Amino acid sequence: MITEEKLQAYNDWLFRKSAYDMALSIIMTDKMTVAPSGGSAYRDARTAYLSGELFSIVTDPAIIELLKEMKDDPDLDGDTKRAAYLYYKDAMATMCIPKEEFIAAEELMNKSYDAWLEAKTKNDYSIFEPYLKKVIETKKKHYSYRNSDMDLYDQMLDDFEPGMNREKYDVFFNALKERLVPLIRRVEEAEQIDDSFLYQHYDIEGQKRYCADLLKYLHFDSDWGYQNETEHPFTNWVCENDCRTTTKYIENNVASAILSTVHEVGHATYEHDCDDKYDGMILSEGISSGMHESQSRLFENYLGRTVAFWEYNLPLLKKQFPEQLKDVTPEQFTAAVNVARCSLVRTEADELTYPLHILVRYEIEKGLFDGSISTEGLDQTWNEMYKKYLGVDVPSAREGILQDVHWSDGSFGYFPTYALGSAFSAQFTAKMREEIDVDEALRSGHFEICVDWLKEHIHKYGCRYDADEIMKIATGKAFDVNYYLDYLEEKYTKLYHLK
Ligand code: ZN
Repeated sequence: MITEEKLQAYNDWLFRKSAYDMALSIIMTDKMTVAPSGGSAYRDARTAYLSGELFSIVTDPAIIELLKEMKDDPDLDGDTKRAAYLYYKDAMATMCIPKEEFIAAEELMNKSYDAWLEAKTKNDYSIFEPYLKKVIETKKKHYSYRNSDMDLYDQMLDDFEPGMNREKYDVFFNALKERLVPLIRRVEEAEQIDDSFLYQHYDIEGQKRYCADLLKYLHFDSDWGYQNETEHPFTNWVCENDCRTTTKYIENNVASAILSTVHEVGHATYEHDCDDKYDGMILSEGISSGMHESQSRLFENYLGRTVAFWEYNLPLLKKQFPEQLKDVTPEQFTAAVNVARCSLVRTEADELTYPLHILVRYEIEKGLFDGSISTEGLDQTWNEMYKKYLGVDVPSAREGILQDVHWSDGSFGYFPTYALGSAFSAQFTAKMREEIDVDEALRSGHFEICVDWLKEHIHKYGCRYDADEIMKIATGKAFDVNYYLDYLEEKYTKLYHLK
């Protein structure tokens, strides 16, 4: 029986834990945006210490016992039970790792991040390789402590997307390969779209001024959000009503910062719009990586790459760049930001070829954990796979294996959720379009109409339910990959005038 006293102990624990979460989140955001690199050794050692303190809080045996009791207590309300279940699950995954090893791993991940950044800057995979190897060994060791019946990589996949495993992802990626590869070939053979105007000189100050307008349009307000700059854009929630997003401006690519801004604001809005009653607890977070990515990609691709969106936004962008965009219409601009072309860098990839970048990651990750692929020479393996699936020659490690940050901190099993999330968004958008006039909202400057729909059907629930349940709540149906494939086929058939 959960007494008042026990509930008080639970709430005190939540408060303590959230204080450490907040501190570590702001330190991490700071490290990845504005913190001078000279201070990193001093900072990283103290950050690792704080992580160790948090580890002790999360794995406190008295709390574990209490969470276990709470998650199964028939008299407790559903929200509290669900939160207790999720905390318990997290604690179980963490507490099987000895504390010294946990702290050492945190330090390793910090060093590995610095090595990745240096390797990328110097275009030299050999700087990062020893760290990548150590990170993989550490992950293998940590997962082996769980004593799970599940295969090692399946456990990692399940951590990022509960319920997913290699078997299900194989089916998913095979469906993608089957329908998208032929479609990509047809697009390659069609008459190409002129997108050269996107790659003229666009001075960064002008881009920043437009992005300020864009943030207003997206309702990313300064009373709860702040946008910074970084090498690899991300979003971090420091605490309730304090969300940090980032972007990266590129002088000769005007669409990059814009679309990454729309993407990150999608992540930010998802958690911001969660029901206030979940403030300060795990239920106010997103359900899973795939579900998070479904919201950011919905913003970026299903709203941000439409004609209606650009009917409103192009005049604002033209105010900053009247010469570069003089004769460009919203239709031409939209076509240009949707050009499909097999390329090198995932974050810059178009919607159609994007899942192939994920497919490469997925195949490599499977290989790294079943032992068929090694970190030595992985840059070459990478290049070979890009040739095989995307047909491109990779000229440098910077544009190849070193392009993304996520392996530096051991986030294996994470990449596949990017493709899955895109597929989720197709199904959500189809339902949203049945119920509201999305195009009218976008072209008339009422982006909030779309946000309100998402809030009502998805965001407000936080992670009260799992992804399968939210899909049914929001769309009335189980997840079906065909929404995604139909959407891409229809969109690119029209865009490239395919027969
Ligand atoms: Zn994202």
